[in-house]
Amino acid sequence: MAFESLSERLNKAIKNISGQGKLTEKNMNEMLKEVRLSLLEADVNYNVVKEFVENVKEKALGQEVMDSLNPGQMVVKIVRDEIQTLLGEEDAKINFKKQGITTLMMVGLQGTGKTTASAKIARYCKQKLAKRVLLVACDVVRPAAIEQLQTLGKSIDIEVFTLGAQTPAVETARQAMRYAADRQKDLVIFDTAGRLHIDDELMNELSEMKELVKPDDILLTVDAMTGQDIVTVAKEFNERLSITGLVVTKMDGDARGGGLLSVRSITNVPVLFVSSGEKVEDLEEFHPDRMADRILGMGDIVTLVEQAQEKLDMEVQQKTAKRMQQGVFTFNDLLDQFGQIQKMGSMQNMLKMIPGMGKMVNKIDDDQVNDSMKKNKAIILSMTPFERENPSCLKASRKNRIAKGAGVKVMDVNKLINQLEQMQMLTKVMNGGKMPNMNALSNM
Ligand code: GDP
Repeated sequence: MAFESLSERLNKAIKNISGQGKLTEKNMNEMLKEVRLSLLEADVNYNVVKEFVENVKEKALGQEVMDSLNPGQMVVKIVRDEIQTLLGEEDAKINFKKQGITTLMMVGLQGTGKTTASAKIARYCKQKLAKRVLLVACDVVRPAAIEQLQTLGKSIDIEVFTLGAQTPAVETARQAMRYAADRQKDLVIFDTAGRLHIDDELMNELSEMKELVKPDDILLTVDAMTGQDIVTVAKEFNERLSITGLVVTKMDGDARGGGLLSVRSITNVPVLFVSSGEKVEDLEEFHPDRMADRILGMGDIVTLVEQAQEKLDMEVQQKTAKRMQQGVFTFNDLLDQFGQIQKMGSMQNMLKMIPGMGKMVNKIDDDQVNDSMKKNKAIILSMTPFERENPSCLKASRKNRIAKGAGVKVMDVNKLINQLEQMQMLTKVMNGGKMPNMNALSNM
């Protein structure tokens, strides 16, 4: 996940000072030096860092901080707020027209994730905002971009308009506008062609399309992994096309984060979305305040809850909750929950969003969690339906058969039975039953 080492270093830098009852020039300078280094190491633009440190210093030396009861914590807040200022004061949103069809042009260099982002945003607008969306395949340069958009469109049940790769993109766009009007669409998203590098041909083509479509928004996709290149690319696109927003992709990689932290203050173009995976649901609205909290290890429980609401199957959760209220928790429920955990994606990313849990992240190995979940799923799937609902029937011969079926040791089967029993005990406690034997819980 992006920002990992920045987050770690910044935390170290402010940890010392947050506990200090008194601010001295010495501890303040030490902290600022560390903050400066962490930002530079994360590849934040030099001038941005310089201004950042000056701002923090000026505010931290203000009378209000000096007179406060806990100056150390006030300084931490100043650093956090300054990071939010870098990322943007307010949330930026798509400029929907009050009436008529809103048009959105997606632009970006090849491989940044423009086509995927077009589909992700289409899905987001359909699901969250109940918009009637039309996707238009105007990337006639990259081979297979049209087919890719069609496949994505099918997977999210959103119509894709195309006239094929032989028709000039502008002509496709012209006809798409008419098509959308006839079918009362609210939003038309144009996936345009990219290039490996910025060149005049690309910019002229995009300008021509802009002239025709008169987009309400032009969103540029930039790849978080390219660091400060984000700033260079955003600057050029902005000069030529006056872009209205950014979609930062590949935040699931180990990008250092400097590009994202620099781009707003240099170009004044806001980030609207970040994407952190290849799947269509891997798109998040960008909230500068929540991101600032996440970077400083203060967690982001709001996003976690939102993701849970979106990704989890609520019917399954309600069914399990109901069964638990009745004191029932069997292997079938456990199997359901494994499926739900997998839907939420990486355990590490989930922990990062829980305030105070950031430090646990390094102790969790996502691959190990996945392996162990896979193994446990195989064990449950090797049981008969009767065994799954009636775990108490599992005696030696059944356990042997299950272990063989799942390709694991009997010990693994026993371990899973043990875990289930502990869950059952918890269920009973939650229902106001007797306290369980604490020894049994200690090895959970
Ligand atoms: P385009 O040339 O800009 O249209 O790029 P694509 O949409 O085809 O994306 C290029 C590659 O990046 C594809 O393999 C995508 O699956 C992948 N990709 C896009 N967004 C993300 C993301 O947020 N995370 C990861 N890991 N991969 C992504």
